[in-house]
Amino acid sequence: MEAESVVPEGPDVAPVEQEPLFRNLDIFLFSLIIGQLIYWLTTVVTPQRETSFIEKMKKTNRNMVVFYGSQTGTAEEFCGRLAKDAQRYGMSGMSADLEENDMSELPRLVEIDNSLAVFCMATYGEGDPTDNAQDFYDWMQETDEELNRVNFAVFGLGNKTYEHFNAMGKYTDKRLEELGGRRIYDLGMGDDDGNLEEDFVSWKEQFWPAVCEHFGVEATGDDTSIRQYELVFPTDINMNKVYTGEMGRLKSFETQKPPFDAKNPYLATVAVNRQLNQAGDRHLMHLELDISGSQIRYDSGDHVAVYPMNDVSIVNRIGQILDADLDTVISLNNLDEESNKKHPFPCPTTYRTALTHYLDITNPPRTNVLFELAQYATDPKDQDILRKMASASPEGKGLYQSWVLDAQRNILAVLEDMPSLHPAIDHLCELLPRLQARYYSIASSGKVYSNMVSICAVVVEFQTSTGRSFKGVATNWLKNKVVVTDNGHKATVPMYVRKSQFRLPFKASNPVVMIGLGTGIAPFMGFLQERGWMKEQGKDVGETILYFGCRHRNQDFMYQQELEEFEKVGVLTQLNVAFSRDQEEKVYVQHLLKKNNEHLWKLIHTDNAHIYICGDARNMARDVQNAFYDIAEEVGGLTHTQAVVYIKKLMTKGRYAQDVWS
Ligand code: NAP
Repeated sequence: MEAESVVPEGPDVAPVEQEPLFRNLDIFLFSLIIGQLIYWLTTVVTPQRETSFIEKMKKTNRNMVVFYGSQTGTAEEFCGRLAKDAQRYGMSGMSADLEENDMSELPRLVEIDNSLAVFCMATYGEGDPTDNAQDFYDWMQETDEELNRVNFAVFGLGNKTYEHFNAMGKYTDKRLEELGGRRIYDLGMGDDDGNLEEDFVSWKEQFWPAVCEHFGVEATGDDTSIRQYELVFPTDINMNKVYTGEMGRLKSFETQKPPFDAKNPYLATVAVNRQLNQAGDRHLMHLELDISGSQIRYDSGDHVAVYPMNDVSIVNRIGQILDADLDTVISLNNLDEESNKKHPFPCPTTYRTALTHYLDITNPPRTNVLFELAQYATDPKDQDILRKMASASPEGKGLYQSWVLDAQRNILAVLEDMPSLHPAIDHLCELLPRLQARYYSIASSGKVYSNMVSICAVVVEFQTSTGRSFKGVATNWLKNKVVVTDNGHKATVPMYVRKSQFRLPFKASNPVVMIGLGTGIAPFMGFLQERGWMKEQGKDVGETILYFGCRHRNQDFMYQQELEEFEKVGVLTQLNVAFSRDQEEKVYVQHLLKKNNEHLWKLIHTDNAHIYICGDARNMARDVQNAFYDIAEEVGGLTHTQAVVYIKKLMTKGRYAQDVWS
């Protein structure tokens, strides 16, 4: 994004010959400079943080702080649960955003008796910290402050399909100990590829007894539900002050002001929405979002985040089951007045807006939600089942896995299949997690299409074991975005751009080898447009090779025309497509890579080629990496260990980059 040029206006200077005024002006300028200096010292030199978390803990009699490094909201959610649980174990907890606190205060935690800092740390991308944990990560790397035996524990959130599994959790746990912290319970490592919820529940189950033992406190045994927010019906409702789906500033969708980001998304109009596949029962789509006038800038390889809306029929059905008037204006206000988080979502708003824009009603609910909802079941058997599923017992975990996760029951399915369960809608709204923005690799080049951002995605829809249709929130919502609606309005999408590390080489003459699977072709459409543009500028553009894997030639050979055209004009020097299902034996990209092993090795080893991989994180990324090990061994004559080190080095140098999603 381009920064607006800010040229501060100076004070009007009167003609200098007027001596008295000139002296006054001198004093005026002097005080202006002093004023600016004080402002600079207080706002620039001192980081703009909330009040000290240590002071806040002292003031509110807390002895446990749970920090979160969260990208998609799950770590934040876990953090809130731990802080809330604390009461049941003789501790008094509060949750805190790493970004909003001055973490160099951490050693001072020992000023509070029996104190403890817990960290819920998500790992993002290729072992990176989440955006809100970046400063804390930098601080941990740079500091040599002594942590004075500060008590700590870490729970990491990661995904085993990624190479750097739980890198942030592991680093935080190790580094805090090196700095002199005192680990009171072992690092927990949640795996989102398995069952993150179960990992967390199992870790908590051991963590709390360790806390009780360490501090000599006892679990209260009190299992009653504790509300965090109070339901308020605003009197004197002014509909202009009621949130209707904005993420931050009220009315931000009506009066749009750059810069646009997660709290202030841009409402882009949908300029194109077309189906990419010619046949088959899936819907692969290409969308173009118009960003003209938004000042949004992006590079090829960046990601676009979109805020979807939930399916209206699910929202209505929840309202119906709970006998709620969805258009009631409400506010959920935090009972803890000291908390930075005043509401669970922008308030005041209506139940309808909350369920449509702010809450996740599509994914299976987590165990803490089931536990809290249990009190509303009038049938004791249902109460039992819900509580059991939230427990750490093997039977409970098994039931949660099969009844909720495997059956993909969302909150509506839970309510439908347990007719005696009739929760208060405001409590349900308090418990459900926030609906998160969805990220897509941008399928266009900002150099060529500065006013447009493209998305390439497949609509997620399948039948669950209960016979329901599971529809992915964002892709189904995007699919139904018509370019011009019946009443002549243009459909819009709240979006912003997130920078990535997935970048074309600095020198255009370096060869690039791109490997894209299915909709993982997306960033390479941007790369190809950009290489073509560079060629047009007369630049020396190196070899540009694409390996694309899809199911059937006549169904999902996405962008076939464009790719063949790129090949015809020489932007693509080699187009290799693996159609996995067009013959009896599977043909995958790695089979084609191996066929070209000699040429590929020359490009990598001699010509400084950059390799890019985009697609499914589960098996493909690993299998493709293995293919490169084989090439290094077979053609380069390396041993397997040397080949592994060789590819690792390419990764560190930024010459082997992955944009993989699970
Ligand atoms: P798809 O149409 O199913 O195509 C994937 C192709 O890869 C199929 O031909 C598949 O073959 C093949 N394949 C399966 N396992 C493989 C392996 N181990 N090695 C090599 N090839 C393998 O893909 P899709 O439905 O679009 O999904 C692609 C993935 O990319 C998704 O996980 C998506 O989240 C991700 N992604 C999307 C974006 C985006 O912006 N939309 C960006 C990055 C990544 P068979 O199925 O016949 O075995």
